[in-house]
Amino acid sequence: MGKKKDASGFEGPDWLQREEKFLAPYAMRTSQSRGRRHAEEAHPYRTLYQRDRDRIVHSTAFRRLMYKTQVLVTQTNDHHRTRLTHTLEVAQISRTIARQLGLNEDLTEAIALAHDLGHPPFGHAGESALDACMKEHGGFEHNGHGLRIVDVLEYRYADFPGLNLSWEVLESQALRSKRTEAAEIREFLGAGRPLLESQVVDAADSLAYNTHDLDDALSVGLITLAELQEVDFWTRAVEQVQRRHRHLGAEQLQPTVVRALINWQVGDLLERTREHLHRERIETVADVRAHEGSLVGLGPEVHTLKAGLEGFLHDRVYRHYRVMRMATKGGRMLRALFEEFGRAPEQLPARYARKAQAGQLHRTVCDYLAGMTDRYAQDEYLRLFQPYTSV
Ligand code: MG
Repeated sequence: MGKKKDASGFEGPDWLQREEKFLAPYAMRTSQSRGRRHAEEAHPYRTLYQRDRDRIVHSTAFRRLMYKTQVLVTQTNDHHRTRLTHTLEVAQISRTIARQLGLNEDLTEAIALAHDLGHPPFGHAGESALDACMKEHGGFEHNGHGLRIVDVLEYRYADFPGLNLSWEVLESQALRSKRTEAAEIREFLGAGRPLLESQVVDAADSLAYNTHDLDDALSVGLITLAELQEVDFWTRAVEQVQRRHRHLGAEQLQPTVVRALINWQVGDLLERTREHLHRERIETVADVRAHEGSLVGLGPEVHTLKAGLEGFLHDRVYRHYRVMRMATKGGRMLRALFEEFGRAPEQLPARYARKAQAGQLHRTVCDYLAGMTDRYAQDEYLRLFQPYTSV
C-alpha cells in the first residue's frame, strides 16, 4: 500500500493504512479531513485527530470542567458528577460505540471531550442568566460558546488563537448550536448532516446524563427508590438485575441497575444503528452527509422507556427545590457580576479589561463569566460585594 498523507502532512508509520484497514467505509478518515484553519507542520507520530484530542485535554477550559455544575453544584459532596466526569463518561461510551461500528475513535473521542467545554458555571441556570444579560448583544448559548473557546479564546499557542482544531471537530461543535444565523456557526453548515462520529457523541451524551443524573439524585437523596417504582425503565432494569443476582445487597443494587441501564441502551443503540445503516444503504461519508435525520439512535421500545425516565427527571430532579435553590442562586450571582463588570470594567483582570476597552465590553464580560468555574464565580462574587473579603 502506498504512503498517504493526512491533512496536516502526517504519513506514518502505518496509521493511515490502519485506518483504511479497520474503519468502516462510512467512517471519517484523517486523509479526508479539511484540515486546520492555520497550517501546521505534521507531528511525527500522531494523526490530526489524535492531536485534537490531546489539545483539548491540555486546555484550560477542559480542566475547569472539574469545578462546573452538571446538575448539582460542585460542593454538594465529593461523589456526584461534575461536568468533567460527565464528559469522561460520554467519551468512554462514545468510544465503545464508535469501535463497535467501525468509526474513527480518535475523532469521536475528540468530539466527546470537547462537547461541553462551553458550559458556564451553574449549569443551565448559568446559561439562561448569561443569555438574558446578553439579550441586546447577541445572546449566549453554550454550544456556540464552546466553539468560541476552542477557536478564539484559549490562549496557549504562539502561532494562532484558540486550539486550531481540525475542521471536523469544529463543525461537530457548531452543528450542535441552534443559533444557525450567527456568522461563526454558519461557516460550518455547508457540508450536510453531522458525521456519524458526531451523531454517536450526541446519543452517548443523552444516555449518559439521564442515567447518571438518576444515580446522583438517588445518592444525594433528592429522590427515593420507592418513587422510582413509577418509572418503567427502572423497574424493568431492576427485574433484569434480580434475575441474575438473587441476593443483591442494598449498596450494590443501585450501581448494578445503573450499569444495566447503560448496557441496555448501548446494546439497543448498536443493534438499531447497524440495522438503520444497512437499511438506508449508508456506505460512504457522502451518504451520511446526505441522509436526512439521525442514523444513530435507539429502537422505539427503549426510546419510549428512556423518554419516561426523562419526564421523571424533569419533574422530580431538575425542578427539585434544592436544585432550584442552587440554580437560582447561581443565576443571581452571574447577573450581579455581569452588571457590575459592565458598569465598571476597570475591575476586570488586565487582559479582559483591555479587550473591553477595545470596544467589546459586553461580550468580553460574558466570556470572562462563562469561563468561570462555580467556585470561582462564588469567590468573585464575594470579592466584589462583601466588604471584608480580600480582593
Ligand atoms: Mg453533555
